[in-house]
Amino acid sequence: MKRGASSIEVKKLNRNRVFRYLNSKDRASMPDIAANLGMSGPTVLQIIKELKESQVVREVGVFQSTGGRKAKAIASVQDVCYAVGLDITRNHVSLALTNLSEKALRRQRVREPFVRDDGYFRRLGDLLEDFLDESRTPRERIIGVGLSIPGILGEENCITYSHTLGLDHVAGDEFTRYIPYPCVIVNDANAAAIAECSGMTLNQSVFYLLLSNSVGGAIVFRRDAPAQAEWSVREGISRDIYMGANQRAGEFGHMVIRPEGRACYCGKKGCLDVYCSASVLADRTEGNLERFFRELEEGSPKWREIWEEYTDNLAIAVDNLRMCFDGDVVLGGYVGGYMGPYIEDFRAKCAKRNIFGQSGDYVKACKYRIEASALGAAVCQIERYIDEV
Ligand SMILES: [Zn+2]
Repeated sequence: MKRGASSIEVKKLNRNRVFRYLNSKDRASMPDIAANLGMSGPTVLQIIKELKESQVVREVGVFQSTGGRKAKAIASVQDVCYAVGLDITRNHVSLALTNLSEKALRRQRVREPFVRDDGYFRRLGDLLEDFLDESRTPRERIIGVGLSIPGILGEENCITYSHTLGLDHVAGDEFTRYIPYPCVIVNDANAAAIAECSGMTLNQSVFYLLLSNSVGGAIVFRRDAPAQAEWSVREGISRDIYMGANQRAGEFGHMVIRPEGRACYCGKKGCLDVYCSASVLADRTEGNLERFFRELEEGSPKWREIWEEYTDNLAIAVDNLRMCFDGDVVLGGYVGGYMGPYIEDFRAKCAKRNIFGQSGDYVKACKYRIEASALGAAVCQIERYIDEV
């Protein structure tokens, strides 16, 4: 608790803690809330009364008695609000709908090559409306839209730079001009990391590596990290994402893993992006990553060799992240989505490099594949709502 917090701030903070606790569970009783959050019974009772009046929690029955009076079961009202995320890539738009559950209730991926013109931005608005129609989402409960962009973002929703989309200092308003809801723009890797961490108690830090057509990343620190200007500064992101002084933190793709290696589009040599973008694999199968993994699974030595080279390079980067941050490394993006069956082999490669132990268990495969960034962008809006409960 920071010193000098007024009693109103303390009350707001406590209410928020109770709501977050409830929202992370299926249901809970008041004694359970009091015990787990270290609050007094009367405080919890008062907060639950207020939250009920705001219609964000409700009673959902009683717990089986263990002797005394049966405790009421309380749960959050998860459909009190909805948010949609749109993830823009070079050739596709992905959409995801969520509510307070922060789970993907509906998702869709549409081929829609990016062109910077009015027609494209109008189609974004149309895609969103069609998506909402099909999911029968009550419009009045939509609190906002999150837009995930593969690029570096600046102040006030400005897109400072995007190699993938070929953008240099573009106002985010261009993208959102046909979207009649409050919008927030989020970097795609940060959005994906937020999706991966949602529902998870952030009791540990997560370092997310986005292995898509470009390589990016995000640094998610546990909540007790110091709250300073360089931490979680973007509106809507209340998770502690380290943004850096210029909002460029987590650009792991331009970490050099092979000095004097192959040329990167950024002008340097030997960047991780050159060796570990999804296209390194997909280019072997006419751009079809799924086919690459099918061929690999069938086990011909040719594909195995490509994969070994890819994962040798990836292990260098993952080990570097471990040495820098000493936390879990999540492999996400298009390739991360296929890592599941290969994760043990890959952990073994990382374990060989781990000077502080024999284990590579700190490496995880992501939960979400292509919809992670869209979902995470939507979750940003939900988190903003929850912060104000
Ligand atoms: Zn580079």
